[in-house]
Amino acid sequence: MASCLLQNATILTVDDKDRTFEKGWIALAGGRIAGLGPMETAPASAGYDEVLDLAGHLVMPGLVNAHTHSAMILFRGRSEGHSLLTMEGWYNTIREPELSLLPSDIGPAVALSCAEMALSGTTTFSDQYFFAEEIASAADASGLRAVIAYGIVQLGDEARGAEELGNAVAFVEGQRRAGGRVVPWFGPHAPYVDNDEALLRAEVAAAVRLGCGMHLHMAAGPEDNEETLARYGLTATQALARDGFFAGRVLAAHCLDLSPGDIATFAAHPAASVAHCASAGLRSGREGICPVVDLRRAGVTVALGTDNVAANNSYDMVSEMRMAGLVASHREGRAQPLSSRDLVRMATIEGARALGLDNETGSLEPGKAADVIAFDMGGPGWSETPDVATTLVYSGSGRDLRHSWVAGERIVADGRLTRADLGAIKRDYSATYADFWARVARARKVA
Ligand SMILES: [Zn+2]
Repeated sequence: MASCLLQNATILTVDDKDRTFEKGWIALAGGRIAGLGPMETAPASAGYDEVLDLAGHLVMPGLVNAHTHSAMILFRGRSEGHSLLTMEGWYNTIREPELSLLPSDIGPAVALSCAEMALSGTTTFSDQYFFAEEIASAADASGLRAVIAYGIVQLGDEARGAEELGNAVAFVEGQRRAGGRVVPWFGPHAPYVDNDEALLRAEVAAAVRLGCGMHLHMAAGPEDNEETLARYGLTATQALARDGFFAGRVLAAHCLDLSPGDIATFAAHPAASVAHCASAGLRSGREGICPVVDLRRAGVTVALGTDNVAANNSYDMVSEMRMAGLVASHREGRAQPLSSRDLVRMATIEGARALGLDNETGSLEPGKAADVIAFDMGGPGWSETPDVATTLVYSGSGRDLRHSWVAGERIVADGRLTRADLGAIKRDYSATYADFWARVARARKVA
């Protein structure tokens, strides 16, 4: 892999000391960060395959989108006026058309999602859905780093649950053998509502044996806690704890209705994290708001996610940082209980930590994978301020992204994808979209 020296950039390292270099350099070699520092310590440029002068750019670790369902781009704009965090909204606007999905729809949909994510600064995303194999191959082709959870669906059928768990294990083993940038996980679908207790216990045992994480929705819709409270007198979090879930790595999306006891359960298990999806939560109209400040105070890792783009409807993690900041101020009733630096950490190193990848990505430190992005600070909104993180979060946009590297490979150069042509991805997607929705219309006629 070509070595590359970036010079004269404003650099946010997001390391333990949160160091910033007003005018700095960073060297990428062999897919890793070889070194970085202020310009007065810069190495000679002669030894590098490529040297980029990034004056007027903000260089930082690639963004981590901790919760999405990339194939669901096919539903963007199709759930307006419905809450996707209720059974009613989800069933009528997603589940019913979803029954017409074919495996061949997934690749073109995920390719466009990956393009949008890459072009707005995401270098790692965490996905949970059916069709994990198809999602993984499209993610791999995009060059992004991806944690793909195999959606385990039971639908009241014990044999189907067991077969799905077998398929999930095969998926994990197959992806590990392939050795790409995809990290395979499990994604138990709707614990207690769909996956029953016996299946959940079997999933935990398999996940612990394989050392893979579990990515699920928790305390998202009103039905989540209602179901377990009615059945066991326990919140969903407590029921999952009872069934051994917190023995493994858990990434819980949404977490709108957590009790103090639920927060304590997360805090007692360092491998359990929350993916806060501020925009999706607000758009859903649910009253609950994820208690991010309390969770962080208790020591829980809180990452940020866009959720699917029927719920959001954007993959822009810069706007997700802003939304998380705004909603925290509103919830706590005081100005910025989450600082801009906190929000940047949540979108980078804390996202990486939630995925168990913080030794590999999430901050700019020598030896880590070279997952690096550069925003152009020449456009509107990027005036001088005392802290560039504040400008990024509250005034910047994912559309300011100019360059992106994953494991040292430049996947976005001058605002364009390097591995594929966005126009071709969009044409392919449009054909798939038209075909899919025509299939849905035919199915509705028959029904
Ligand atoms: Zn979700």
